[in-house]
Amino acid sequence: MKNFLTKQYTKDKRFKIRHNYLTEQFKDYPKIFKKIEKVIKFNDFTLGFEVEKFENNFKKLINAKYCIGVGSGTDAIYMALKSLGLSNNDEVITTPYTFYATVNAIVQADCKPVYVDAKDDFNIDPDLIEKKITKKTKAILVVHWAGRICEMNKIKKIAKKHNLFIIEDACHAALANMDGIFAGNFGDIGCFSLHPLKNLNVWGDGGMIVTKNKNIEKKLKLLRNHGLINRNEIKIFGINSRLDTIQAVVANHLLGKLKVITEKRRSNAQLLDEGLKDHGNIIIPERIKGLYEVFHLYCMRAKQRDKLIAYLNSKGIDAKKHYPIPMHLQTPSKKIGKYKKGDFPFAEKLCDETISLPIHEFVTKNAIKYIINTIKKFYSKKINS
Ligand SMILES: *Cc1c(COP(=O)(O)O)cnc(C)c1O
Repeated sequence: MKNFLTKQYTKDKRFKIRHNYLTEQFKDYPKIFKKIEKVIKFNDFTLGFEVEKFENNFKKLINAKYCIGVGSGTDAIYMALKSLGLSNNDEVITTPYTFYATVNAIVQADCKPVYVDAKDDFNIDPDLIEKKITKKTKAILVVHWAGRICEMNKIKKIAKKHNLFIIEDACHAALANMDGIFAGNFGDIGCFSLHPLKNLNVWGDGGMIVTKNKNIEKKLKLLRNHGLINRNEIKIFGINSRLDTIQAVVANHLLGKLKVITEKRRSNAQLLDEGLKDHGNIIIPERIKGLYEVFHLYCMRAKQRDKLIAYLNSKGIDAKKHYPIPMHLQTPSKKIGKYKKGDFPFAEKLCDETISLPIHEFVTKNAIKYIINTIKKFYSKKINS
C-alpha cells in the first residue's frame, strides 16, 4: 500500500480556492516554535504542563466538567466506549453517513455498529432509532456532522427510556452549540479531534474527551496512559494514547483564536446560504434558530453533483465529496451484516448528492462571490446537458 496522501496534497495545490489552508493558519509558526523551545528546555515531553493547560482551557471554553487529552479523535471514541465497559459485541447505534473513524472505533472496541439512516440535516434520524434497539444495545453514538448538532432532545429521551449511553462524535463540532449547550455536553462522553483539517487543529494527530462523570474521567486518564497510577503500578490494562505535548503547545496557541475562526466560517456560510438558497438545483439544510453550527464543512445537495464538482474544479474551486461511499457499503461492513444498496436510502442519497465547498476563515468574500457565480453559471449555461 502506497501513501496516497502525498499525491493528494500536491493535487489539491492546483486550486485557487482550496479546502486546505494550513500554510495561512500557521503563518505565525515562529511564535509556536518559541513555546516549543520552552518544553524542550524543561524536558516536559509527556502529559506535561501544556497538556494540562490545554485540558483546562478547552473544558472552560465549552463548559465541560472534565477534559482528557488523547492521541486522536479515533482513540477518543475507542476509549470512550472502553471506559463505559462496552465490549463483546455490545451494539452501538450510529449513522452510516460519517467519516470512517466513527465506525472503525466501534469495531476496534469489540462492539457492533448498528446503522440508523441519516436525514436532511446530514445527521442521524432520531425517529428511526427505536426500531433498532435490542437487548444488546448499549449506546447511541451520534455524529454532529459538519459541526451541526444532532436532534439531541429526541435522542436524549430515547436514551433515557432504554437506559442507553450517549457518546458524541464531536470531531467536527468544537464550539458548536444548541441554545448555549456545547457539543460534547449532551451525552455521557464527547469526543473531539485535533487533526490538521479540523476547525481546531494541530501539526499531527491529537484529540480530547469531555465528560461530566468523575468515574469516567478517572478511567479515561488510566486508559490513555497504560493504566498507570504511579511509576510502578498499573490499575487496569490501558493503552498509550496521550495528547502529545508538542501538539498541545500548538493547540493552546490556536485555542484563543477558535471563536474568531468559527465566526468567520459562519459568516462565509451565511453568504453561501444567501447566494444559493433559492436556486432550484440546490438543497441547503434549514438553518434553525438557536442552533450554532460551526461549519467544519459547508455541505449542500446539488443536482448533477459530479458534473458540478468537475466544473468547479476546472474553475479553480476545490469542491469535494465528503464522502461518496456510506459506511454500510464499505467493504469491511460485509463482516458485520448483509448490507446492500437501498438499506439506508437517505445516507446513500447524501453520498450521491452532497458537495462541500471551501468555507474556512481564509476564504475571502470575493472568493465566496466567485463560488456562487460559478455555480450559477454551471446551471444556467446548461454546461451539464
Ligand atoms: C476526523 C474524524 C474522526 C477521527 O479523528 P482523528 O483525530 O482523525 O482520529 C472521527 N469522526 C469524525 C466524524 C471525523 O471527521
